[in-house]
Amino acid sequence: MSLRRTKIVATLGPSTDSPEMIDRIIKAGVNCVRLNFSHGEPEDHRQRAEWVRKAASDNQVQVAILADLQGPKIRIARFADGHIELAPGDTFVLDASLERDAGTQTEVGIDYKALPSDCTAGDLLLLDDGRITLRVQSISGERITTVVERAGTLSNNKGINRQGGGLSAPALTQKDLSDLRSAVEIGIDYIAVSFPRSAADMREARREMKAVGGTAGLIAKIERAEAVADEATLDAIIRESDGVMVARGDLGVEIGDAHLVGVQKRIIARARALDRIVITATQMMESMISSSLPTRAEVFDVANAVLDGTDAVMLSGETAAGSYPVETVEAMARTAEGAEVEREARISEERLQQAFTSHDEAIALSAMYAANRLKGVAAILCLTESGSTPRWMSRIGSHLPIIAMTREPSALGRMALYRGVFPVALDYQSTPSLRVDEQAIQAAATLGYLKADDLVIFTKGDRLGLHGGTNTMKILRVGDFL
Ligand code: PGA
Ligand code: MN
Repeated sequence: MSLRRTKIVATLGPSTDSPEMIDRIIKAGVNCVRLNFSHGEPEDHRQRAEWVRKAASDNQVQVAILADLQGPKIRIARFADGHIELAPGDTFVLDASLERDAGTQTEVGIDYKALPSDCTAGDLLLLDDGRITLRVQSISGERITTVVERAGTLSNNKGINRQGGGLSAPALTQKDLSDLRSAVEIGIDYIAVSFPRSAADMREARREMKAVGGTAGLIAKIERAEAVADEATLDAIIRESDGVMVARGDLGVEIGDAHLVGVQKRIIARARALDRIVITATQMMESMISSSLPTRAEVFDVANAVLDGTDAVMLSGETAAGSYPVETVEAMARTAEGAEVEREARISEERLQQAFTSHDEAIALSAMYAANRLKGVAAILCLTESGSTPRWMSRIGSHLPIIAMTREPSALGRMALYRGVFPVALDYQSTPSLRVDEQAIQAAATLGYLKADDLVIFTKGDRLGLHGGTNTMKILRVGDFL
């Protein structure tokens, strides 16, 4: 049984497409899978989700399923020959009226038809995550004429960003709305919304999700310059979401890599302060797409995100399309566990100056302060309906596991992403309320989380089954219940 606190999100794709591979990456430590709706058909995602549920139950672990909507990713269309070579100083035209497959050495089509009206002369367009850069010379009708600055090979369907952000596309496309419906039908725990500009985009996503009967948690992918342009915008997006993703691929291109390091720290800190979860994503162990070992720099990158306090670290191409998906998950798990020793081995002073806003928040944080300061405590045991008590707990640094027991299947999946939280299904429906403590402690001991001479901090609501009803904290000796 692993006591790793940082969660691992793995993107599924061709490299993981069999029940055996899904089982292997889950054994290696995956806590959440990402179904990337930028690729594949809903049917592919449904099949993958089924494999994941089967493997999770075989291995008796909780694995969250996250559906990532494509969003208004702006891309070039295709070349007649698949790719071209651009040289510095070449003139190259992006033409919204060109046929989809008609790209040549001098021009190519674009899917996002409004791009010409969003651009002005002097803009810098970054293609293929900035590997190619084009300076806009002039715009006439549907044609954007540019000069190549950073040159190289340009192939089909590569993404386009504008330096500094500010492209007008709304966050949810027609395709996203239809994928949202498929995702809800598949049954997922989280939906990731790509390229939100503001809190209003997240409110709209939540409205659309509710309209198709969805109850998933919403993750805002922070990947546009305007989302981090000022504190108020970022905070407002976080508040409208259940969690955020530091989507370093697109964000890094728009704001520049040099700013990304600081911005990552700011996003993680704000998400934690506002009681939301945060996933750090993209190119964390990129070299492992084709290598069985990470580089030293990649190990440090993952460790740095752990030290920043991220809930989860994410793999993209490494697991979806790489040659070493299992080895990559293992390397990430190892790295996270190593880094956690440094971060968690201290007594947290978070929120000591802050007033609490509800009874259950008061219990949750008091439990953490007591657990971190009382010798002999081995775990926090928390009976929860909605998962909100363990989410508060997990915002406070600790080296102790937060064992979150619930009879709500939807809470189990969600909690799989909370840092330091170990979700356990417990059916205490028909247990007399005086015996519930005993039942919970025995279940945790059977799973190997507790031993006879451990102390646990135990929290629950007197009236079990009530959302937001946590009002009790006790200190119990495990041996008294075995
Ligand atoms: P993507 O999002 O992988 O869907 O592009 C993550 C990122 O931009 O970092
Ligand atoms: Mn992205």
